[in-house]
Amino acid sequence: MRRGFAFLGCLGALAGCGTTHHASPREVRLPAARPHELTPPPIVARPIPFGARRRRETAAYAERHYGVSTYRLSAPHVVVEHYTGTGTFARAYAMFAPDRRDPELHELPGICAHFVVDRDGTIYRLVPVSLMCRHTVGLNYTAIGIEHVGTTDAQILGDRRQLDASLELTRWLRCRFGIPVRDVIGHNESLASPYHRERVAPLRRQTHEDWKRADMDVYRARLRRLGC
Ligand SMILES: [Zn+2]
Repeated sequence: MRRGFAFLGCLGALAGCGTTHHASPREVRLPAARPHELTPPPIVARPIPFGARRRRETAAYAERHYGVSTYRLSAPHVVVEHYTGTGTFARAYAMFAPDRRDPELHELPGICAHFVVDRDGTIYRLVPVSLMCRHTVGLNYTAIGIEHVGTTDAQILGDRRQLDASLELTRWLRCRFGIPVRDVIGHNESLASPYHRERVAPLRRQTHEDWKRADMDVYRARLRRLGC
């Protein structure tokens, strides 16, 4: 998520984020691994409220932004890595749990992430991956969102326990859904994703500061080495 100024960050700065859509043809989607072949890392369930109202609001959001009226996330093509801008999981949870308008875009439903990786390596699941979650403008219709408790890319890359947990979680998810390593991206790379789409014109160049390309190149190299 990472808002540069309290909750606000790059999201408020609608200019200055270049769009570099890939022109190259897509690689063939990898076959998803069979469930019995995959061992998930330990995951602690800490669900945020996601009842009928939030689901209706999510479907309305998806209709406005993507032209698809559903709150479901099916066959995700992208994993987006974030950091929370907070120092603790508790503060991150408190940010995602309420279903309220966000201070940046003033939209409903409330923002969220599917997972949060804490600094001690604990992985929390806030939202099932079968539900759409508001974490990345332009990609929510097809992206799983993973947050990391922290305030910089470097802090997380330099934290062995947190990084190892993050890599194991991402490996499991991408292998489960057949997502190529190159579609594991940082929030700051969102505009360059070939899956990026946004119907609301003022938001088409909107992204955030968290997880820039150089840092994600390091992350992806580690992830690639893990294989499936
Ligand atoms: Zn983010």
